[in-house]
Amino acid sequence: MLAKIRSSLTLKLFFASFVSTHLPLAVALIYFAYNQHLEPTTTIVLLLVATVAGTALCLGSLWSLLHPLRQLRVAILRFRKSKVACDMRSERRDEIGLVTNAFSSLTSDLSRTIEKLERQATFDVVTGLRNRRWLVDNAAAALARARREGTGIAAIVMDIDHFKSINDRFGHDMGDKALSAVGAVVLSSVRPYDLAARIGGEEFAILLPGCDEVSAAEIANRMRAQLTRLSVLPNGVPLTASFGVCEAASDADDLATMLKHADKNLYLAKSGGRNRVVCSAKNELEGSFSASREPAR
Ligand code: GH3
Ligand code: MG
Ligand code: MG
Repeated sequence: MLAKIRSSLTLKLFFASFVSTHLPLAVALIYFAYNQHLEPTTTIVLLLVATVAGTALCLGSLWSLLHPLRQLRVAILRFRKSKVACDMRSERRDEIGLVTNAFSSLTSDLSRTIEKLERQATFDVVTGLRNRRWLVDNAAAALARARREGTGIAAIVMDIDHFKSINDRFGHDMGDKALSAVGAVVLSSVRPYDLAARIGGEEFAILLPGCDEVSAAEIANRMRAQLTRLSVLPNGVPLTASFGVCEAASDADDLATMLKHADKNLYLAKSGGRNRVVCSAKNELEGSFSASREPAR
């Protein structure tokens, strides 16, 4: 019987209501049993006190029985806002306990699915980098943070050289393999808080908070050099890329403005012979940044 009550909200509600509403009757019966001569005033006061106590008991037990429903409502609102799973496992075996546990596992399933979908929507499967949409969504916050902290922020735009001819000569699959190798180089070169993305077919962009143009150009040059050392393409054909670098010039600079500036330098790198890094500070960087001759194709 006790097990049945524990697993049924209806029985719990019935039990709480029954005891509360019958409390005045129970008190009256006990009083009559022990007192042969009824004192009207005492009887009335006793019944009133028992009624108030029964009402309070009824309210208290209903409030406590239904409290998990209010917690569930708060959890649903929180989940709708944050999409973070609500771990609110209940030990209760009645309907409210079952619903709470079902909700808890539903939210963890849902938040795992949302996380997976968000990952799929922002990741590029070929390179393992994020995509343009992710960069656009996250750039404003990175720019604002850099501005707030006064650390500066730089951008690198990179474009694989003669990629069309790689596809034409070795096939699309080899082109994809080259893209994936470039993605790995980018990933190994950036810091955890840099924002690196594939923004087009064979174009990549990296936002580097806390970097000035020259430091960003050094990073770009390391990537450039690393690419030339890869042996991804057949017959020893080198894989090279050109880089345009810039830093945020004013507080008004947004992602589009920075990419436009970096793109101008990328254009100079292409027209200057490819396989090189160009930034505004030194125009085309010499010495350690200068590219080796463009490989013959
Ligand atoms: P440049 O040195 O001036 O950058 O020349 P390019 O050949 O690299 O540039 P172009 O814009 O002429 O060609 C880019 C090529 O990239 C064309 C397109 O077929 C190829 N491409 C774009 N996306 C993909 C992809 O996902 N996989 C492969 N394999 N190729 C792609
Ligand atoms: Mg291109
Ligand atoms: Mg290209």
